[in-house]
Amino acid sequence: MIEDSVKKLLNEIPEKNPFGEKVTLVAAVKTQTPEDINRAISAGITDIGDNHVQEFRDKFDEILPSKRHFIGTLQTNKIKYLLGKVDLYHSVDRFSLAEELDKKSGNQGLCSSVLLEVNVGCELTKSGFSLEEASSAYEKIKTLKNLKICGLMGMLPLTDDEQILRKLATAMRAKYDEIRKIDGNFEFLSMGMSGDWKICIECGSNLIRLGTSIFGARSYNK
Ligand SMILES: *Cc1c(COP(=O)(O)O)cnc(C)c1O
Repeated sequence: MIEDSVKKLLNEIPEKNPFGEKVTLVAAVKTQTPEDINRAISAGITDIGDNHVQEFRDKFDEILPSKRHFIGTLQTNKIKYLLGKVDLYHSVDRFSLAEELDKKSGNQGLCSSVLLEVNVGCELTKSGFSLEEASSAYEKIKTLKNLKICGLMGMLPLTDDEQILRKLATAMRAKYDEIRKIDGNFEFLSMGMSGDWKICIECGSNLIRLGTSIFGARSYNK
């Protein structure tokens, strides 16, 4: 039951990470129906994260008031459907996307809040800046006036090897701290999914994105 899962998670997730920062829980809602998403919100979920622009658009008007996150890969030609509706874009994974989001935000008199996506495990299947290029990407994107960079987002590799997960999560936190020292807007380190969120919080994540733990295994043919 969604309600039970949410209550259990809200009990289980520590209020603060070891750095004393509040931990935010975002429900990753890809493939979920508006009814199920609203059940989660009624049970205490405050933040909703979408992957697909089409799904986001189809369900937008039906979702109860909540903070909206975009966490999926974003094509520049679809930015227009999200502008002004998304509170935080997690997945700025290339300069061209940042540039286009900046331009379109400016055209509408908006300033969009973004996270820079880091491909911390250097995986071919994932997008994002490498850990090594994160600082230079930050410097470059920082010059765009209609974006507010609020932190970093990362997805760890799918592995049961805790040592690898801890090593990568700690490296992400170190990069986050390095930039945070020079940028007071840095507020979110978005890292942690159903399989690895405990480790991520222990290593300094302050925002986790959970789908399966809330809604159960996804069915893609609904
Ligand atoms: C689907 C998804 C999640 C949640 O994954 P679960 O393993 O179901 O918790 C988190 N982040 C992103 C970017 C996702 O696409």
